[in-house]
Amino acid sequence: MLAAVCHGKKDLRIEERADVTLASDEVRVGVAYGGICGSDMHYYHRGAVGDFAVREPMTLGHEISGYVIETGSAVTDLLPGTRAALNPSRPCRTCDFCVAGRSNLCENMFFLGSAGRYPHVQGGFAQHLVLRRDQVIPVPQDTDLLELSCAEPLSVALHAVNRAGRLVGKRVLVTGCGPIGLLTARAAVHAGATEVVSTDIEDAPLKVARDHMGVRRTINVATHAQELQTFEQSGGAFDVAFEASGSPAALSSLFKVVRRGGRIVQLGMLPPGTTPLPVNVLQTREIDMVGAFRAHDEFRLAVELIVSGAIDVSPILSGTYKLADAIAAFEQAGDRSKVVKLHLDLT
Ligand SMILES: [Zn+2]
Ligand SMILES: [Zn+2]
Repeated sequence: MLAAVCHGKKDLRIEERADVTLASDEVRVGVAYGGICGSDMHYYHRGAVGDFAVREPMTLGHEISGYVIETGSAVTDLLPGTRAALNPSRPCRTCDFCVAGRSNLCENMFFLGSAGRYPHVQGGFAQHLVLRRDQVIPVPQDTDLLELSCAEPLSVALHAVNRAGRLVGKRVLVTGCGPIGLLTARAAVHAGATEVVSTDIEDAPLKVARDHMGVRRTINVATHAQELQTFEQSGGAFDVAFEASGSPAALSSLFKVVRRGGRIVQLGMLPPGTTPLPVNVLQTREIDMVGAFRAHDEFRLAVELIVSGAIDVSPILSGTYKLADAIAAFEQAGDRSKVVKLHLDLT
């Protein structure tokens, strides 16, 4: 079977990989589609994500969907051919965080396509993959597998919304209209926010936010920065702000537009090192600031929302490339004037 393997900076190879053996509680799946995530692009362009450098060849990818090929001896409830959402998280299920229902903080996590541990966890841009039974969520056979591969980024958005607390009737700002920012805006609308404003530095994704994500107003902060400043009046307009751009400047701007006692949820990946924060403002205005990292139970919710059609993820789909053309896909994926998210077709 073939896989898209990162050997280091700008060194992505489509190469033959051996199938791994199947344990009794595991499932061998065929991967149908894989979405190219910001982290995959960091591995491709820089050979690293944050402090995690690629130190051995690693298959990229973690936003995947597919179907069952074969099951281990202890798995009796999945038939070959069954379509499935594939959860990239394999937490230990026994540490304090897993037991407390916060498995995204697991001390012994195996997350697909991540150099965060060594040996690295091989990823999902592979035609065949072995997952633990609980990572495989069967779906109806008529489910669109391309849309289903967006369950992981949608789960990240839903987790961020959960970290924000109750959003019914709230005014919300989302900085950044990448796939995660767009899905966070949509998830905030789904959670009952009455007004969602999104920002970005490109017009194209802002249009996606307005046309498809339920966002009432968008601001291009590269060309119309003063529009965001109008929200500073009367002590800040937003109850909750989601920082989904990973930009230190975007984060610092939030402390002026979030109202007293409001909340900031950081889910964009900020560059490693120190990000200056107006902690005096955080203190005197009693702003809550929380992090949001990956997702736990929200993955199943994301699958339900996609399968039921309650949330339409199709507006973030910008094109699909054959696995053999993965390098072209990675080179295109960063063009934010045209692309929200690109996919690899591994079938
Ligand atoms: Zn991702
Ligand atoms: Zn754990």
